[in-house]
Amino acid sequence: MRFACRGGLTLCFILSCLAFATHPVAAQSAPAASTIQPQPQPAQAYTLPPDKLAKAIAISHIRNVMDIVGGLWGLAVLWLLLATRAAAGIAAWTERLLRRRWMQGLLFFAVFLIITTLANLPLDLFSQHIERAYGISVQGWGSWLGDLAKSLGIAILIGAPVLLLFNWIVRRWPRRYWLGLWIASVPLLVFMIFVSPLFEPLFNKFEPLSASNAALVTELEKVVARTGTDIPPDRMFLMKASVKTNGLNAYVNGVGATKRIVVWDTTAGRIPTDEILFSFGHESGHYVLNHIPQSIAGYAFALFFVFWGCAGFSAWLVRRFGASWRVDSLSSRAGFVVLLFAITLAGFVLEPASNTFSRHFEHEADVYGQEAIHGIVPDPQKTAVAAFNDLGEAWLEDPDPSPFIEFWEYNHPSVQTRANFALHYNPWAKGHHAEFFDK
Ligand SMILES: [Zn+2]
Repeated sequence: MRFACRGGLTLCFILSCLAFATHPVAAQSAPAASTIQPQPQPAQAYTLPPDKLAKAIAISHIRNVMDIVGGLWGLAVLWLLLATRAAAGIAAWTERLLRRRWMQGLLFFAVFLIITTLANLPLDLFSQHIERAYGISVQGWGSWLGDLAKSLGIAILIGAPVLLLFNWIVRRWPRRYWLGLWIASVPLLVFMIFVSPLFEPLFNKFEPLSASNAALVTELEKVVARTGTDIPPDRMFLMKASVKTNGLNAYVNGVGATKRIVVWDTTAGRIPTDEILFSFGHESGHYVLNHIPQSIAGYAFALFFVFWGCAGFSAWLVRRFGASWRVDSLSSRAGFVVLLFAITLAGFVLEPASNTFSRHFEHEADVYGQEAIHGIVPDPQKTAVAAFNDLGEAWLEDPDPSPFIEFWEYNHPSVQTRANFALHYNPWAKGHHAEFFDK
């Protein structure tokens, strides 16, 4: 949940778009302002000590490059599967091996998911190496590989049947299949949000937050009461993140019966309660302000055009390259990989647009979070600024990312932008009124 998943898988792309989490966001630095300079720079609310600043800039550059490289590599892998005729070859192999069509399809897509995961492994290994080298991840390689294997297992368990269903829709309605894909994708998104918390115990240990942090639960309940989020203490959990990471996080996930608060033990132990309340207030904002339904509606709107456009583009790809790829139609297994390539390309190109929407929601949640802790913490402005500094330092967020990188890759505003806003946001001052609360 912290970082968008990489690689070319469409399902993964869509889910990562919808995965709201308090993943701290990047920032923009700048040396402290000096009044002696002829053109004084604005004071920066998010600052790092010099050694951390150098590390944050270095790791941010690597992360940014890896984001772009990962996207392009995901596309290249799909293209290579087609151009080397591997996709057609695997389809033929499953037909020789199994008699039933649906079993051939399940095997084909399971193999497809394994190949794309393995192809992405060098990039994943490098990213994990970097996170360890910079002291953010403390996870051993055995445990890390175990997590990767579990993720792949879940991808096969859920992804292979979904891809099979989509493939069947293309075969069943060869002319208007894009409309069928669109209709099927919306309930699937809702379902994925609902079940996502159920998989988390496979990766991390959870225990009731009240068992170790009873005082924190009492404080969280004050924010719950003020925001009306209806999350009882038995839906508040402590996640044992410290065995894997030094990062900080507190988030709300799931929906309906699976809705819950998760606070990482790194956070509960290391940053002041007021800051956790702010983080929780921000997360509550996503729920109270209906960001998940709005996101689903937004993606549904966009996917209508994406599927329609990709249908035309992939039909052209088959006409142009089909003979050399041994792909005779889009409704074949290998033909479906052509469609996946087109949809993945659309996802890559549209990432800045989806990030722009996401940044808007994140800003709204920041405003909500700061208003939600008014009257509960002594100084919401100070608390929010301190929280952004702690999050930024823990994740080594760049205090001064380039505007282009922020536009293209950031699904939250930069930490600097957020901290600067928090520093100056005081709706309780005379003549103003809060956006989301009466008092
Ligand atoms: Zn958020």
